[in-house]
Amino acid sequence: MISYDQALEAVLATVSALPPLNTALTEAAGLILAEPAKACWDMPRWDNSAMDGFACAAASLEATQQLRIVGAAYAGHPFGGRLQPGEAIRITTGAPLPIDADTVIPQEDTQACGIQLTIERPAKPEQHVRYQGEEYQAGEILLEAGAQLHSGTIGLLSSAGVEQVAVYPRPKVAIFSTGDELVDLGQQPGPGQIINSNLLFLEARLRECNCIPIPLGIGEDHSDNLDELLDRAVAADLIISTGGVSVGEKDLVQQTLVTRGFERKFWKVAIKPGKPVLFGQLEGKPCFGLPGNPAATAATFELFALPALRALAGQQQHPERRTATLRNAVKAGGSRQLFLWSQCVWQDGGYQVEIPQRQASGQTRSIAGNNALLALPIGSKGLARGEQVEVILIGR
Ligand code: AMP
Ligand code: MG
Repeated sequence: MISYDQALEAVLATVSALPPLNTALTEAAGLILAEPAKACWDMPRWDNSAMDGFACAAASLEATQQLRIVGAAYAGHPFGGRLQPGEAIRITTGAPLPIDADTVIPQEDTQACGIQLTIERPAKPEQHVRYQGEEYQAGEILLEAGAQLHSGTIGLLSSAGVEQVAVYPRPKVAIFSTGDELVDLGQQPGPGQIINSNLLFLEARLRECNCIPIPLGIGEDHSDNLDELLDRAVAADLIISTGGVSVGEKDLVQQTLVTRGFERKFWKVAIKPGKPVLFGQLEGKPCFGLPGNPAATAATFELFALPALRALAGQQQHPERRTATLRNAVKAGGSRQLFLWSQCVWQDGGYQVEIPQRQASGQTRSIAGNNALLALPIGSKGLARGEQVEVILIGR
């Protein structure tokens, strides 16, 4: 059986970024730039005032501290006239500096009486001026390819007049669950039936991860029905099924995939939970068969499907890892790499991680309150309280 690292490598070797798309900046939050984004103009666009106060020529102040107020420039309302020696205008923050002015005197440093202005504190020539192009210039690269668009970068690019950006699109992900025992939320489960919680987990998690889920519902433990679901699934960028990938008589997902020409990359990885995870390509689309136990579905999503989705979306980095101090002891590992759902918090100047004692693949509780996965290597003798460990953060 291959290791987690080998399996992840196989996933990343198979998946590459989706073709970039020109998208409105207003629609691009969370996406990755495929091309550098350049400023359409200088910033500031013109010399302007950094303070509310008065603008004048520094030369006027050499002769006198008494100036005449001859007009005003407000933000959005430039002063169109010219200034003579000894003259000043009122100016507000962000208003263009008139051609003949080079200095701004803050309001607090002045006394105004009608049109008479007294400068009460010495002013340095060119003070409180924000110069055209001092932040960035037209044509300058503001963000390199690979940068993620978020509120801050969207603010920056919009100020620079960037309306369209070349980005990797949000991956469309077809998801379906399989199992004759599953019913949708809202139905009363009959004898032997359970709610299809995996699909709701995946749908919500995909949204959190900036993907577009395409939920296809519940597949029966029956090849014909699974085949119909796959007909629809192949339209997506990536396919995720849950359940039916183990060795049971009713585990028919792999068999159905194979009849459609599925190119298998791996089946079964030396991990716990999630050993029977299946990965390959169907009609060129990355395709994951995640095991149906809820904690296994969630863990294998984070460990395999999410890195694939990030690669499709043009992201380079893997899930975030942190070094944390263990708050409680952990029992020995075994023949598979253990991934334990855990709670990681910042406390006393460092990350601390706590592992709930009772967690089994079938228990949905372990995924509800936890924000990290702790990896315990194969053959580990267990970990003592206080040890430093590496955890994979589940960003939500
Ligand atoms: P399977 O991977 O199909 O062998 O299923 C393993 C376990 O996970 C069984 O107990 C299933 O009932 C349960 N299970 C499978 N699919 C789901 C699902 N969509 N939601 C919740 N539990 C599931
Ligand atoms: Mg099943």
